[in-house]
Amino acid sequence: MNNDVLATPLQFLKGVGPRRAADLEHAGLVTVEDLLYRFPIRYEDRSRLQSIVSLKPGQTASVTGRILSCHLRTTRRPGFKIFDAAVDDGTGSIFVSWLNQPFLKDVFTRGQHVVLFGAVEMRGHGGLQLTNPQYEILDDEDRETIHTGRIVPVYEKIGGVTPKIQRKLVHDALQRLPADLPDHLPEAIRLRLELPSRHAALLAAHFPPTDVPLDALNRFETPAQRRLIFEEAFLFQTGVFARRRAAAAERKPQLITVDDRIRESARQVLPFRLTAGQRQALKEIVDDLQRPHPMNRLLQGDVGAGKTIVALLAALVAMENGLQVAFMAPTEILAEQHFMNISRLLQASRFRVALLTGATASAARREQLAEVEAGSVHLVVGTHALVQGDVRFATLGLVVIDEQHRFGVLQRATLRAKGLHPDVLVMTATPIPRTLALTVYGDLDVSVIRDMPPGRLAIKTVAKPESRRDEVYEFVRQQLDAGRQAYVVYPLVEESDKIDLKAATEMHDHLAQEIFSAYRVGLLHGRMKADGKERVMQAFAAGEIHILVSTTVVEVGVDVANASVMIVEHAERFGLSQLHQLRGRVGRDRHQSYCFLLYQSPLSDDARARLKAMTDTTDGFEIADRDLQLRGPGDFFGTRQAGMPTFRLIDLVRDRELLDVAQREAAAWFDTAAPTPAAVAALVENWEARFKLMEIG
Ligand code: ADP
Ligand code: MG
Repeated sequence: MNNDVLATPLQFLKGVGPRRAADLEHAGLVTVEDLLYRFPIRYEDRSRLQSIVSLKPGQTASVTGRILSCHLRTTRRPGFKIFDAAVDDGTGSIFVSWLNQPFLKDVFTRGQHVVLFGAVEMRGHGGLQLTNPQYEILDDEDRETIHTGRIVPVYEKIGGVTPKIQRKLVHDALQRLPADLPDHLPEAIRLRLELPSRHAALLAAHFPPTDVPLDALNRFETPAQRRLIFEEAFLFQTGVFARRRAAAAERKPQLITVDDRIRESARQVLPFRLTAGQRQALKEIVDDLQRPHPMNRLLQGDVGAGKTIVALLAALVAMENGLQVAFMAPTEILAEQHFMNISRLLQASRFRVALLTGATASAARREQLAEVEAGSVHLVVGTHALVQGDVRFATLGLVVIDEQHRFGVLQRATLRAKGLHPDVLVMTATPIPRTLALTVYGDLDVSVIRDMPPGRLAIKTVAKPESRRDEVYEFVRQQLDAGRQAYVVYPLVEESDKIDLKAATEMHDHLAQEIFSAYRVGLLHGRMKADGKERVMQAFAAGEIHILVSTTVVEVGVDVANASVMIVEHAERFGLSQLHQLRGRVGRDRHQSYCFLLYQSPLSDDARARLKAMTDTTDGFEIADRDLQLRGPGDFFGTRQAGMPTFRLIDLVRDRELLDVAQREAAAWFDTAAPTPAAVAALVENWEARFKLMEIG
């Protein structure tokens, strides 16, 4: 076999028929490379199989022996069955029970040779027992081979392909690898970081030598594992740099300049003094606008940091240069709010603003589309309706995408394709931990607003069992009497008959008629018609509604400065960053604001940790960090949605430090290797395919 071993389809391996090949493919494993670049979920030391006679209760152990007897038994609980076995290894025997896995009667038979791995427990009337252990059945020829007598890899089961079958496949595949397997990592870097070769690393990551510490293996910290993780990280970061290099070679059709007239025009629009953080971010953005290649920048800033005005000033610069601006928001409510604010701020200017959402009536829409195409509308605010095929711009120069984590990658690409290399500014209030920012937004430049507009007080957050809601209502009353407003947020729109949730609608009636009858209580949810939503939102913004009962449609972006209380019902059901976003709806002015997290007991450990994080800190970065720890990166972004790269080996939480090293090394490599434009283009192409990334900006 030659160097193409890695590209060999798995169906050519012995033991892989069409059925198994289909199962493997379902899990994304098509080639030998896919199989080998997939770590075991854990490693088990079977070099020191324990004799049954030496087992002690409380320990976790691997044993191997023959099945003396086994049978399925019914219990008094209807439908609940237990599969019992007795296993003997010559030194003694042990009872084994699998609960509720009746199919095991077709798996085990007397006389089979098995390996078991699990916790040893005391049995009711003396003796020891294993309950629900992991198991493998050995054929006679398997004994003393790859499945026992060593540290063995345990793979996650894929359909009908058991861990044991996978071990065999991996072992066979490794046998075929040539010792001089080409290595992606530059030799100099590999040697300096003392990492093993690719060939050696693949062997040792799957079948570690016996002297490798088991705990290091299970933490994925051995040199072989680190080498493979680093390889993936380095390739990824190299692609990121290549993409940046390629983007820097693009040219905007029209240059943007900034002069005193434009500065004055910005001053006219600005309703307040920018914070230092806003000024710095604006400077970075405007510097980008004046460069010949398109901007690709992420503006990050915690909820309430004041990103909108920064984007609007950037938009003004573009418009003063004769260019059109598209301003995208993830919800109709938010698009509407941006439209109102921006229209107000630009009232005295010569620029015309339009709103295009899914709710725009078709006649009005046609008219607006014509104006956008003719260039007589300068700034278009909209939802995803903005990226639909019939929207054409005369001179689209800048695209602003608010709350960008809410958008799919494709929508961004489509919008971008509408202009000739427009500048792109994406904004997010999801404070992304640094490692994640490097990977998810690796090819974007990042500006961060770290300060808050002056006079803001930290929001006071309290978690309370819902049985104590009366205290909260009393508090809300005081706030309303002091002239403030409040939100009450529910997780659902409709009462679900199965789940014990008070739906927003019901609760709205209850609050309006019984608890707060002296005040005006409004209702807002996702299933209302657009103009209904609009009316309620406007009434709340105008202070005509005192309490807004809502579902999570107010989660992002909504800005009503006078609101000082946020009550989240069933707070235990919300994710951490969602809670942080919701809390960010208050504390947007000089008033002391409050957030009450009402929860239903008993709390799960995770829910408790989330509520604790919320009451511990208001720092969005810390919240994001804890969220990442609690949920893992996949859920953090909702994988594909946010254009997260697909990693085979990297775990963004576990491998943070290695990712940093890879980033530095990739940057340095790019400087010294100085690849040609053609090489850069090839790198980008491979990179996008390899990490399943579509065009991001
Ligand atoms: P976010 O960053 O969450 O999008 P917004 O842009 O909605 O925040 O701004 C939050 C609120 O703070 C808005 O009411 C806005 O008018 C106000 N604001 C923003 N910047 C300043 C500032 N420099 N001084 C005073 N108020 C500001
Ligand atoms: Mg915002």
